[in-house]
Amino acid sequence: MNKNIAVIKGDGIGPEIVTEAMKVLDKVAEKYGHTFNYTQLLMGGCSIDVNGVPLTDETIAACKASDAVLMGSIGGDTTTSPWYKLPANLRPEAGLLGIRKALGLFANLRPCVLYSELAGACPLKEEISAKGFDMLIMRELTGGLYFGARKTEEVDGVTVATDTLVYSEEEIRRIAIKAFDVAMKRRKKVTSVDKANVLDSSRLWRKVVNEVAKDYPEVTLEHMLVDNSAMQLVKNPAQFDVMVTENMFGDILSDEASMITGSIGMLASASMNETKFGLYEPSGGSAPDIAGQNKANPIATILSAAMMLRYSFDMTEEADAVEAAVDKALKDGYRTGDIMSEGMKRVSCSEMGDVIAGNI
Ligand code: NAD
Repeated sequence: MNKNIAVIKGDGIGPEIVTEAMKVLDKVAEKYGHTFNYTQLLMGGCSIDVNGVPLTDETIAACKASDAVLMGSIGGDTTTSPWYKLPANLRPEAGLLGIRKALGLFANLRPCVLYSELAGACPLKEEISAKGFDMLIMRELTGGLYFGARKTEEVDGVTVATDTLVYSEEEIRRIAIKAFDVAMKRRKKVTSVDKANVLDSSRLWRKVVNEVAKDYPEVTLEHMLVDNSAMQLVKNPAQFDVMVTENMFGDILSDEASMITGSIGMLASASMNETKFGLYEPSGGSAPDIAGQNKANPIATILSAAMMLRYSFDMTEEADAVEAAVDKALKDGYRTGDIMSEGMKRVSCSEMGDVIAGNI
């Protein structure tokens, strides 16, 4: 297969970690007879330096013309970088919001996997972490409380602030379909999280998810209240496969789920639209404290590239091979500084990329 990949290396550790993901993709292409054509694009701080703005129309057009986007991270040190003296709409992060909007990316997918080799980094009790877990949180990204009407006003001399949580059935349907599609490629279980005992928007959420479920008879659906979900995540995370939820609940639960995996450098993510198109990036930021030192952990970005193979290109075998290559590198004791523990082999960012590519 021939695929066109837009590559945004970005700022800080971005260029280092994306280079390693491309190394692994090139090995996949070689082994499985594919051609990956890369178009390198600027976004974030590096685009501000060259173009005066964090995101240009040319970058948006080139992303739209590609089959998928692979991204590193954007932004710099928020206290010392001159980028943060600019107005908010010209700062690096404005590029991130702008590209998500321009590409219509409404579904955020965050796998949370606890590798048995890294179980020591999991803050949960050993009897829970010993079981490991492999779940994916799908968060609605463009609706709900963060996008509803809001105001702060004086009412009878008292300041009152209002935020509005709005969802249409179309918005719920498209994210539910995405969740069931992803579950079909995993262990075929969907947990839909809401607050249907209180909120009208959650009752509509539950109704629409039930309707969509009828088209996926192989998938087991359960509904769970958000407060219970927060407890279950730390009590028994192994019970979850795909968890789908609205924007704010997903924001909070996905951070809780990432914490229990132990390391930010291991967490992949994807943002998708209705089609197979997606933007794939590590969950972490640009880590300015270690940028340019060849110390960053490239695994999150490599696993994001594996998600691109699986969800945008339907290359299941290839995605499995990348994930197995990461597993083997960990089993063989290779560790970047952030996941280093006694008795393991400390490697640089590029050495970790070499080891994983070598395992393909
Ligand atoms: P961060 O995720 O960049 O760093 C937090 C800590 O995690 C740091 O100690 C860093 O060294 C470590 N870390 C992160 N990724 C790592 C990796 N791959 N390997 C090893 N260690 C890693 O968060 P921050 O310091 O709050 O933010 C730094 C910059 O990144 C800011 O400008 C912020 O706006 C930006 N940011 C960008 C994105 C994005 O591009 N999607 C996301 C979050 C933050």
